[in-house]
Amino acid sequence: MADRFYLTTAIFYPSPSPPLHSLYEAIGADALARYRRMSGADTRFLTGMDEHSAQVERQAAELRTAPQELINGWAAAWRAAFDRFSISYDRFIRTTDADHVRASVEMVRRAMASGDIYKGTYSGWYCIGDNEFKTDAQIVDRRCPDHPTLELQWLEEENYFFRLSAYQERLEALYRDNPSFCEPEHFRREVMGWLREGLRDFSISRAGGTWGIPFPDDPTHRIYVWFDALTNYLTGAGFPDDAEAFARWWPADVHVIGMNITRFHCLYWPAMLMSAGIELPKQVFAHGFMTLRGEKMSKTRGNVVDPEDAIAQFGVDGTRYLVMREIPYDRGGDMTEDGLVRRYNAELAHDLGNLVNRTVSMTARYLASELPALAPGAAADQELQATAAAVVARYHVAMSGLHFDEALAAVLELTAAANGYAESQAPWTLEKRGEAERLGQVLAAMAETCRILGHLVAPFTPTAARALHQQLGTPAPYDERGAGGPALATLLAWGGGAPGPRTTGAAVPLFPRVELPETVG
Ligand SMILES: [Zn+2]
Repeated sequence: MADRFYLTTAIFYPSPSPPLHSLYEAIGADALARYRRMSGADTRFLTGMDEHSAQVERQAAELRTAPQELINGWAAAWRAAFDRFSISYDRFIRTTDADHVRASVEMVRRAMASGDIYKGTYSGWYCIGDNEFKTDAQIVDRRCPDHPTLELQWLEEENYFFRLSAYQERLEALYRDNPSFCEPEHFRREVMGWLREGLRDFSISRAGGTWGIPFPDDPTHRIYVWFDALTNYLTGAGFPDDAEAFARWWPADVHVIGMNITRFHCLYWPAMLMSAGIELPKQVFAHGFMTLRGEKMSKTRGNVVDPEDAIAQFGVDGTRYLVMREIPYDRGGDMTEDGLVRRYNAELAHDLGNLVNRTVSMTARYLASELPALAPGAAADQELQATAAAVVARYHVAMSGLHFDEALAAVLELTAAANGYAESQAPWTLEKRGEAERLGQVLAAMAETCRILGHLVAPFTPTAARALHQQLGTPAPYDERGAGGPALATLLAWGGGAPGPRTTGAAVPLFPRVELPETVG
C-alpha cells in the first residue's frame, strides 16, 4: 500500500445546486478516498466546480448580477450539499481561485514555450450545453445528442490552438505501454478509436469575453475550457506555487470522471502535461451514468432526482449505499424508485440492519450485554470465519478497481452467511437449554462478523458504520473522514479488532424500514 493517495473528481459544470447524478460521481470517489484513508494511506481528495462557463455569464446577465456573485452562491450551495452527503473532500476547488488562475496561465506559458500553441481560425458547429465544437460524427439529427433541446451554433473565430496532432505518436505509445491509463476497458476502446482516427488540434481561447482567465500576453482572449478546467488537478496538488506539496501529491493516482469527458482526459490532458514537462497521472477512471426509468437524468429533460428527496426517504447513508449498490460505477445503469425502496428494505433494513440488531439485542437479553472473548470455535464458527476472509479478499479487489457494486455484493454475502449462522446455531435454543458457554461463543462470532461488516460498509455508510461499532462496543478507531486508525488489514482480520470480553451498547435500528410510496416509478 502506497503511503499517499491523491484522487480527484471532475470539476462539475456549474448550476444552482448539485443533481443526484453529480453526487453519484462524488460519492464513488468519496468511498474510494475513505477506503484509502482506512487502509493507511495519507489521502488527498479534490473536487470542485468549473466556474468559467458561458452559461454563468448568460445567467448572470439575465439576473442583472455579476458572474462572480452568481457563482459564489452556486459554489456555496454545492459545497453545502457535498458536506451534507458526507463527501470528505480535502479541497473544494473553484476555477476562480487565485492559485488556480496562476496555474492555468503557467500551463499555457509552458505549452507556448514548447511551441505547441499557435493562432488559427476555427469554425464549426458548437454546443453551448457542453461548450464544445461538435464533429460531424458527434452530431445526431443536427443536434448534440447530450443536449437535444439546444440548437447547435455555427461559430467561426480566430483563436489560439494547442497542437494536439503533434502528440499522436506519443499518445499511441502511452496506450501501448500503459493501457490501464484509461479504465475501464469499454471506455478505453472508444478513446483508442478516436486516436486511430487521428488527433486534431483544439482551440484553447475565446475572443472578446470577460468571464474567464485572461490569455497570457493577449488580454483580448480568455483561456477556454481545457487549459482552465483540466489544470485544476495540478492546482489542487500545489502547482505552481508550492513545490513541496506538488512533489508530495503529484502525480494523481486516479482522476474519477464521467464517461462523457474521456476524450479530454485521456487524449488532451496527457498531451498538455507532456507539453508542460509534467508527469502523467497514473489513471483516468470513467464512470457510467445513472439513468432514471431508462432516461439519462438531465435538467433539460426535467427528470433530475432532487438529492434532498432521496435523503428524506433513505437518509444520507441509505442514499449513498443505494446509488453505489444499484448502479455499477464502471458501466452506469438504471434505477427506479420502487427498486430503490425494495433494495433498501431487503439489504439494509432487513439483512444487515436485522443482523446487527438481533446480535446486540440477544447479547443484552441473554448475556446482560457482557460479550465473552472470541474463542477458537466449532466447525460452523470456522466456516463463518473462512467466509469472512474470502469476502474481505474479494472486497479489496473490488474496491481497488472501483467496482463498488461488487464490493457491496461481497458485503451482503457475508451478511447472509452470518444470518444463516444465526439460524443454524439458534442462540435462543441454546439459551433455553442452558448451554451458556456455546451461547456466548455464538453471539461473539456473530458480533465479530458484524464488526467486520461495519468496517466494510464504512466507506459507503460512514455514519451508520460508526453507530454500528458503538452498539457492538468496539468504537471505530477512525476519525469522521476515515483517517487515523490502524490499517484496515488489521481490523478486517477475524479477531483483529477487540477479541476480548466487552460490554455492548443499546440496540438501535441502523436502517429503519421505508414504506413503498403509493405511486411508484
Ligand atoms: Zn452538448
